[in-house]
Amino acid sequence: MLISEFVGNTPLRHCDALSTRYHTNIFIKEEFHNPGKSAKDRPALFMIQDAIARKKIKPGGLFVEASSGNTGLGIALIAKKLGYRAKIFVSKSCSEEKIDLLIKAGADIEICENSSGLHDFNSTQFRAQSFAASHPNAYFTNQYYNTQNIRAHYKTTAPEIWKQTGGNITHFIAGVGTGGTISGVGRFLKEQHPNIHVWGVEPYGSILAHFLKHRTLPNNIVPFDPIEGIGRNFVPGSFDADYVDHIFQVNYRETKRIATEYYAQTDIMIGFSSAAVVASLERYANMMDFTTTDNVVLLFPDHGNRYISKLYNGGVQQANSSSRITSFNF
Ligand code: PMP
Repeated sequence: MLISEFVGNTPLRHCDALSTRYHTNIFIKEEFHNPGKSAKDRPALFMIQDAIARKKIKPGGLFVEASSGNTGLGIALIAKKLGYRAKIFVSKSCSEEKIDLLIKAGADIEICENSSGLHDFNSTQFRAQSFAASHPNAYFTNQYYNTQNIRAHYKTTAPEIWKQTGGNITHFIAGVGTGGTISGVGRFLKEQHPNIHVWGVEPYGSILAHFLKHRTLPNNIVPFDPIEGIGRNFVPGSFDADYVDHIFQVNYRETKRIATEYYAQTDIMIGFSSAAVVASLERYANMMDFTTTDNVVLLFPDHGNRYISKLYNGGVQQANSSSRITSFNF
């Protein structure tokens, strides 16, 4: 069986708890059913296939990527399956579970100070690019600027959602990290029907909400809340603002609380950024203004078992924002 046959075709499930709470129809695109257990297997596969097809790497060569963990794992697993190797630059905020998975997948890993983009010498992106440039037969997949990132979601995630909803979708909501998911799915959905709402979610302090609204960077760039996989202090090339209507910001503490409450009430352990998407519903329900006939699709990129130490066992990181604590029942 070809590796491409294992990636994608993930289920879309109705979420009774959220649908009841918000008096609408809420569906979850469960991306943790991919082989590497995250949505990022899709761009990983597209970027690797593209590099091989364009002869950017010879057999046995080394794929290099900067990743918060999930893309890295997709790259490592697919590279191994195809007879290549992987070196992944992760930032020190990456969960222990993801580091363990990368090591088990045979990736060489290097931990960096931050993932603040190519202009920062200590970032995962800069270190990955420099490493690939100075090593023969190494190829930097560069998910933040590789057009295959958006394309993977445009060609696979979005058509799956369209088919699974029978074209009856009114809203799509997903977390934004590189921007590949929201831009690829957003573009496809807007091409089918421009009135479909495409909404992103990012941590408090991240700059993409401001950029989307004003098309400039904010004057003050502050540290963003540490919600793994989402949030940026630069505008990635994989973020296409033309297909996104709005970006909601949520904070670390409410995201953690939502994850724990969701687990207690549904027995489903959701990933950090998935919890952020659920938190956006709670915080902005009035603005979102769903009706009983809306069909809302939330994308859950990965599973909570990747964040037991940080999200479900107390965690160690400090939030940057002050939090609004409210009680919440699903
Ligand atoms: N959630 C998680 C857990 C992720 O790993 C990522 C990818 N960094 C995202 C959300 C954001 O997806 P994208 O990069 O496509 O914006």
